[in-house]
Amino acid sequence: MTCKPIIVVSRCLGFAVCRWNGAAIENRLVKDLANSVEFITVCPECEIGLGVPRPPILMVQKDSGLALVQPATGVDLTGRMVAFSYNFLDSLDRVDGFLLKRKSPSCGVANVPIFADPDDEQPIEKGPGFFARAVLERFPDIPIEDESCLEDLSRREKWLTAVAKGRGIPGTQSGFSEGNRDCAPGIYGLAE
Ligand code: SF4
Repeated sequence: MTCKPIIVVSRCLGFAVCRWNGAAIENRLVKDLANSVEFITVCPECEIGLGVPRPPILMVQKDSGLALVQPATGVDLTGRMVAFSYNFLDSLDRVDGFLLKRKSPSCGVANVPIFADPDDEQPIEKGPGFFARAVLERFPDIPIEDESCLEDLSRREKWLTAVAKGRGIPGTQSGFSEGNRDCAPGIYGLAE
């Protein structure tokens, strides 16, 4: 078992070309953290069987509840995404933080558009994507951010500190003993 913080990260943030449009994303923070944390990567949309590239999906508020749909195919992905999300999260032995991709109807932590109809251009409200919703429900006390929020240095520092506390890093009651301080990740230095 690693002594580094364990962070679940959206796979498209530099680990694989898995976005709907096949575009690659590089993320500086992910690169900076690579030696200090243990990443568990996940692409919920690929995990439920969607290919790359793929027609975009979006959230729709139906009478029956919030749905995840793919307008180009008419497929309702809600059941598959909810089942995958909770199965994946329940399979984690330990997690200290989540770093997810912004604006995604799956991974977005907040402010993802929700439409009354798939053909609408204007959303009726905004909220977390489906995978992020499951994270927020299952792990309400684990630090979670999207990559754009962590461009704010103050917010990044708070997130990094909260992630580090999850591993008993100095400053917490369950802090590392003198004998295993070398397990402490050097991530504070990133929040310059
Ligand atoms: S935002 Fe999430 S679902 Fe979309 S490509 Fe990235 S990891 Fe996959």
